[in-house]
Amino acid sequence: MIDLHTHLHPPKLFAAIRRWFAERSDWDIASQPTEPHDVAAVLRAHGVERFTFCSYAHKPGIARDLNAWLAQTSRDLDGYGVPLATVHLDDPGYVRDAVDAFDDGCIGLKLHEDVQRLAVDDPRFAPVFDEMARRNGFLLVHAGPIPWRFDAGAGIARVARVLETHPELALVVAHFGAPDSLGYFELMKHHRNLYLDTTMVFAPGSPMGEGADYPAFAAGIAAYPERVVYGTDFPNIPYAYDSEARGVAALGLAPHIERAVLRENGARLMEAALHGLR
Ligand SMILES: [Zn+2]
Repeated sequence: MIDLHTHLHPPKLFAAIRRWFAERSDWDIASQPTEPHDVAAVLRAHGVERFTFCSYAHKPGIARDLNAWLAQTSRDLDGYGVPLATVHLDDPGYVRDAVDAFDDGCIGLKLHEDVQRLAVDDPRFAPVFDEMARRNGFLLVHAGPIPWRFDAGAGIARVARVLETHPELALVVAHFGAPDSLGYFELMKHHRNLYLDTTMVFAPGSPMGEGADYPAFAAGIAAYPERVVYGTDFPNIPYAYDSEARGVAALGLAPHIERAVLRENGARLMEAALHGLR
């Protein structure tokens, strides 16, 4: 398997994130590891061949150091985990931050609209997206306020605008685009570089599974078998690591399609980015 959506953060930031979950959510995640080698060990034990990981700059002034930490952590893991960069638009040098992060080994960019209080279609991202497309990197975007609110249509219009203005950019919408998943499959008709990741939508009992129409999702995947990639959000998940893959298996996809989702599609994106960015 290739897990295209996991999280690693520097220790202080990770502790703050865990405190946030403990105080503001009923997610039981305290027993999940946070130290990069421990996280990697769980992934390896479950047959993950390679993974991407990300953090996010929720305020100005921290993106550069975060990117340096992400790149160094990837080297510490001997490249088993590959990082996605972060930028903050209020940092005056955010374009330089992104380019330097790509030069340092990041294979794309993660944006979290809710945590970072930004919009993926903010025109200020244009130079970063252009540079990423040129290097075959990919954008992973958490669109809208899920899982805390399931506002239909909150993210898909902005994602569509990015696809229109940057048709060459590989764009992965996290969390299967919930709650607009079926709308994203419609968009795929017109945008060949649009992907969805499975993250937290297929694991049984996941807080992201609300309102999921699994038969319709399976039909969408069968129609666009090259456009869905496996991701998990590990280690910030309130269930065992293998739950997501079990949920994908329960869809009853044809074996070659399930393999494409769990491995080949992610591997293709990762390989293209590794070759393009370095
Ligand atoms: Zn995530």
